[in-house]
Amino acid sequence: MKKVLVLGAGQLARMMQLAGTPLNLDIKAFDVRSGKVVLPIAPHHAYGDLAEGIANADVITAEFEHVAHDVLAECERSGKLYPTSESIKIGGDRRLEKSLLESCNAANAKHHFVNTKEDFDAAISKLSLPIIFKSALEGYDGKGQWRLKSMEQAEQVWLEMAEFISASTTQVKQGIIAERMVPFDREVSLVGVRRVNGDVAVYPLTENHHTNGILSVSLAAPVHSTLQEQAGKVFKALTDKLNYVGVMAIEFFQVGDELLVNEIAPRVHNSGHWTQQGADTCQFENHLRAICDLPLGSTALVRPTAMINIIGEDTIPDNVIAIPSVSLHWYNKSKRAGRKMGHINVSGDTEQQLAERLLALSVYLDEKAFPDLAEFALSLIHI
Ligand code: ATP
Ligand code: MG
Repeated sequence: MKKVLVLGAGQLARMMQLAGTPLNLDIKAFDVRSGKVVLPIAPHHAYGDLAEGIANADVITAEFEHVAHDVLAECERSGKLYPTSESIKIGGDRRLEKSLLESCNAANAKHHFVNTKEDFDAAISKLSLPIIFKSALEGYDGKGQWRLKSMEQAEQVWLEMAEFISASTTQVKQGIIAERMVPFDREVSLVGVRRVNGDVAVYPLTENHHTNGILSVSLAAPVHSTLQEQAGKVFKALTDKLNYVGVMAIEFFQVGDELLVNEIAPRVHNSGHWTQQGADTCQFENHLRAICDLPLGSTALVRPTAMINIIGEDTIPDNVIAIPSVSLHWYNKSKRAGRKMGHINVSGDTEQQLAERLLALSVYLDEKAFPDLAEFALSLIHI
């Protein structure tokens, strides 16, 4: 039985445990807040501290990219960490991420690094409005972002950003990336996996919808082969460059027939949760297979599947699971506004059947908590 230690004890570690247990993998997680090693699905009992967790593990991985650098260094010294600390850090710092994209010639939005007022002015003249500014470190769910649409807002936006930078207490110096706003047709992501020997497998591109900056719905259905091919090439280039091991997600903007990379996540990803019901092997199992150096599982789409995030709600009507092919996944977290509490996977034999099930689901769900679901379901019916 291989023993895996996951850095971070949230829902991603929990779903790794649920997926890894049938493979006889022993999954524990390091809770960065308490400093204790726990079982992700039963976090109340502690199994020692980080040093003990490292000593007891055969393999170490991370469920999030904002792990403290000293923790990463300690894990890396053990020779058990997959992917490398370099890969994890790149996902946590947009400056490193942009450098990686440039070094792999991966198309991305035109950008400029901003630390001072001079940089800010230079960004405006280089990129032209509208511009989106993002904090280099600690960004997630659209947090740490400013949008500049007209020059009247410029002074205010700069003041807010300057205050944000100076108030930052990060170990590495905080900074800002200015990016040209991309007039995208849609947002898609590619989740894929790479094994130590360089074997790669990617899932079909997933279409993503956001509400208030947070992922609300992902759709996996058969995709256009040229887009899939483009995304696959980017995945191969980035993961080969990093000698990456495990699951990585790449978020793209689709503009016409072109994909621009938005950002990468060096881990299992929310836009890959549909794989639990919609793919031959789910992303959590494939991540574990990769880091434990086991053969990768098929990433084939079994049937069209959508994932709906449950955000800020801790109950939904029981009747939703009476709808065929509706699966509920709670994360056992306490309720907080804007918090990802769980998700619902819905599958259909055809996109039409999936759309009908989504529509049936939307009838049970509170429209305030799931704002655009009925509309999304109807948009699929019209395809
Ligand atoms: P998450 O954690 O959900 O991935 P994040 O905080 O890391 O989000 P981004 O993914 O970079 O941040 O941005 C959040 C959303 O803002 C994107 O999904 C997209 O809708 C929008 N956005 C970001 N950058 C751009 C851009 N250059 N042009 C247009 N829209 C953008
Ligand atoms: Mg994102």
